[in-house]
This record gives sequence, structure tokens and C-alpha cells, in this order.
Amino acid sequence: MPRHETQYDVVVAGGGAGGVGAALGAARAGARVALVEKYGFLGGAATNAQVLAYCGFFHQGADPVQAVAGAGEIVLDEMRRLGVACTPYHSPTTGNWIVLLDPERLKIALDRVLMAHGVDVFLHSRVAAASRTAERVESVTVAGMDGRFRLIAESFVDASGDANLALVLGQPMRLGDGEGRIQAYSMPIRVSGLAADTAIDRARMIRAIELFNTRSPHRIDRTDGGIYTRVPASSDFWWLVIDRAMPDLSSQSFTRAEQTGREMALLLVDVLRETVPGFEGAWLAQTGPQIGVRETRHPAARYEIGHGDVIRGRLREDGVARAAWPIELHSEAGRPIYEQVGGKGYYHIPLDALHARGIENLWYAGRVIGADPRAYGSIRVMGTAFASGDAAGVAAALTARTGAAPDAGPVRAVLQDLGALI
Ligand SMILES: Cc1cc2nc3c(=O)[nH]c(=O)nc-3n(C[C@H](O)[C@H](O)[C@H](O)COP(=O)(O)OP(=O)(O)OC[C@H]3O[C@@H](n4cnc5c(N)ncnc54)[C@H](O)[C@@H]3O)c2cc1C
Repeated sequence: MPRHETQYDVVVAGGGAGGVGAALGAARAGARVALVEKYGFLGGAATNAQVLAYCGFFHQGADPVQAVAGAGEIVLDEMRRLGVACTPYHSPTTGNWIVLLDPERLKIALDRVLMAHGVDVFLHSRVAAASRTAERVESVTVAGMDGRFRLIAESFVDASGDANLALVLGQPMRLGDGEGRIQAYSMPIRVSGLAADTAIDRARMIRAIELFNTRSPHRIDRTDGGIYTRVPASSDFWWLVIDRAMPDLSSQSFTRAEQTGREMALLLVDVLRETVPGFEGAWLAQTGPQIGVRETRHPAARYEIGHGDVIRGRLREDGVARAAWPIELHSEAGRPIYEQVGGKGYYHIPLDALHARGIENLWYAGRVIGADPRAYGSIRVMGTAFASGDAAGVAAALTARTGAAPDAGPVRAVLQDLGALI
């Protein structure tokens, strides 16, 4: 039995971009908010899997046109106060605008913004169970460091990336693309020990991968050399080149992916040290904390954003957030496929894509929102997750206030007052 109970207006499961956006949206809309995160820090994939850049804050194109403000902008401003420039960077590899991150300062920025907005954060705490009636969630049971406790609320947001709250509520799910295919997982690595002035020559990196493939039982399929950058404020080298196909979501498959990824990373750095000028003194500074998870399961929402919505750049009266990142699919490990957003360069996320099918007071934020398998390749990035989170948080706060899920109109009005772009 849980040891104690606490009452909130809104409980958010997960502290990635979606969860932080939701907590900020709900708190700024006047709700008393708790956020539960299983790691000892916030940030989601940005801090638990070394995903070092925020995508989705800007449209594609020659100039950086902002698509996300509100909660996302609050986080960028806090990072700027901590000395991280957060200026839009035009990626020569993909042609998109991104914001490069410093993961340690990001963790602190997220702590500070949630503290400043009065959000009660529970770290090292996992949403493990939930109780519900036919149409409403009543509480979540949290497994914390000192046992189990219950958080009761009027409204809930699942921002766990893996739909863990919806899962324990028994919500219907689609696994991956619904036909058994899950997007590839990747293990970004951080390499230390390079001279700051080492120029990275892509042709040499490609040759290093070829040599690696002759020595390793596990292939690297990124024949273009992958994506790399220097870690901001350091001379460390960050490389996204190790991809793993994931057959299912079993603990055994995750264990194999983590273990294999680490073995590959170690050998890869050995090969760099041996063959690439400037890397003679390099060492593997970090994998993880965990492998990067692109996709798991998708809980049933009242609307699924479709491929056509993205490529037409569909704008709608019930839109509550903008999404501007192109479709980026990793159906095959190491071979991403891109498709551009049409129309004005962004499309709307409608309120119903954030609303659980059949459960009045459950909202989705981040990569669990309703999207078909191709649209998912666009909505899942972190800039967009802040925006869907902001909207889900406001919707949850309004649900808590009135007892009923709001229409899009009031949600849009509050978001606009809070500076979000719709
Ligand atoms: C290799 C890789 C590269 C990527 N590249 C980029 C990129 O460059 N830029 C970009 O913007 N996006 C990128 N993405 C996509 C992006 O990182 C994710 O889609 C995004 O992080 C989704 O945000 P989220 O908040 O929905 O989920 P997540 O970031 O996954 O956060 C979910 C949070 O919920 C927590 N959680 C889960 N279950 C529970 C539970 N039961 N109780 C409590 N807490 C729980 C997790 O610990 C986590 O902190 C990449 C993804 C991968 C894997």
C-alpha cells in the first residue's frame, strides 16, 4: 500500500521536453503541478541519451523563422542565462536549423525553471501504477526511493515518451508502425582527448567506419560518416553513427542493444585513435546514460496527425501548437529518410491529438501524441515536444479547473496569453 497521498491539480509523468513543457504550461495557467521523473535529472533524451540538439524550434529554410516560443523559449532563456548561446545553427548535414545543447547546463536550467514556476518535482521516482474509473484517471502510484506513494490529481499528462502512464491505465496501443517495425535506436558517443584545433575530415571518418566494419561483428551502416559536432563549450567530439534495429520492447532486446552499442563504441574509438590524425590521444568519454530510443508504443488519441497533414502543412482552427520539423524516419538502421513540411513550413497539432481516447482527464505531450507512423517522424523532436507539452499542460490545467476537458478555443486563448506560437 502507498505510504502517503498528496493532492495536485495536474500530475505530469516524465521530465523530458514534453513533460517540462506540460509542467510549465499547467503551472503558468494557474495549476498546482507535480512532475514525476524516473532519472535523477530532467531533460529526457537530451540528457539521458546525449541527444545534443533541439530540433523543431525553427522552420526549414534560408533564415531561422521561429515555430516554438512559450515554455520552450523560457527554457532557452534560462540556458542563455547560464552562458549557453542557444543561437540557431544551420546544420550543413541536414540543412535544418537546430539549437546545440550543453547537457549539464540544460539539467540545471530545467531544475531552475520548474522551481521558479512552483512545480513539485519528484526525481528518482517512477510512475508504476494508476487507478481509474471508466472515463477518468484518479491517481498514480509512484515508486520512489523510499517506497511507494500516491499522487491524486484532477488531470494527468503522459509525457513519458514510452506511454508508460497510458500503458498502466490499459489504454489501447500501437507498437511502432503497427506492423511490427520500430524505428532504429542509436547510441551517440562522446569522445575526449582531441586537440581543440583538430579538423574533422569526413572522408577519414568514413574510412574509419569501413575499417571498423572489417573488425566488428556488428556493422555500422552510416556510410556517409554519420552526424558529428563538437560538444558546446568543450573540445569533445560527439558522434551519432551507431544504430541498432530493435525487434521488440523486451528487456532482453534492450539489454542486447545497450551491451552491443557499448562494445561498438569502444572499438570505434580504438579505430579512430589508430587511424585518424588528431585522435591519437582520444578516449571514449561517454555512452548513454542509455541508448537513444526513437520509438516504442503509441497510445490511442482522439486524433492521429496524418502524413497528409504534414506534407500539406495543414492549419486548423483547433490547432494548439506548431510543428515545423520535416518527417525524419529511421525505419532502417543507418539510413534516415526525410520529407519536407508543406504549406507555410509548419502544420498545426490539433487539441484532439493530445487528448486520450476515452479518458476525459488524460492528456499526451511530446512523442506520445497521436500521429500516424510517418507523421511521427516529424512530431517527435524536442522543440515540437515543448510546444505540444505547453498545450497539453494548459489543457490539463483547464480540465482541473472545470472538471471537463476544454475545447480548443480556450486552450488557444490561454496559450496565446502565455506567449506560445500557434
Ligand atoms: C538517437 C536519437 C537522436 C535524436 N535526435 C534528435 C535531435 O537532434 N533533436 C531533437 O529535437 N530530437 C531528436 N530526437 C528525438 C527526441 O529526442 C525525442 O523524440 C524527444 O526526446 C521526445 O521528447 P519527450 O519528452 O516526449 O520524451 P523523452 O525525451 O523520451 O522523455 C520522457 C521522459 O519520461 C521519463 N519516464 C519514462 N517513463 C517514466 C515513468 N514511468 N515514470 C517517470 N518518468 C518516466 C523518461 O526518463 C524521460 O525523462 C532523437 C532521438 C534519438 C533517439
